[in-house]
Amino acid sequence: MTITEKQQLKNIIESQVAALSKELAYLKTQLKPVDKECSLDNVYHAGRHQEQNIIFHRFEKYTKRYNRLIATLNRIESEDYGVCKECEEDISIERLKLIPESEYCIDCMNELG
Ligand SMILES: [Zn+2]
Repeated sequence: MTITEKQQLKNIIESQVAALSKELAYLKTQLKPVDKECSLDNVYHAGRHQEQNIIFHRFEKYTKRYNRLIATLNRIESEDYGVCKECEEDISIERLKLIPESEYCIDCMNELG
């Protein structure tokens, strides 16, 4: 991986981190505890429960991705970055640009399922 490629990847990660933290901040404002007194028989409350569940799952998913990207930023300078954990071949730059936190090359990823 060249220095330019690494810098490009850093920029990609940083913009994804920025986008995710914006999204997380927005989701946080949407996460409201549902009134415990409410009955699930009530259609309105059932709908709100479902809505909150969806928001909560999205929030969790984005938080995980956010943490993975931050961890990637921390290890991008190390020699191990961009090297497949399984076969120790370089992971293609195209793949890293799409998923910078990749730890496996496409071949191994497919094999590992
Ligand atoms: Zn591999």
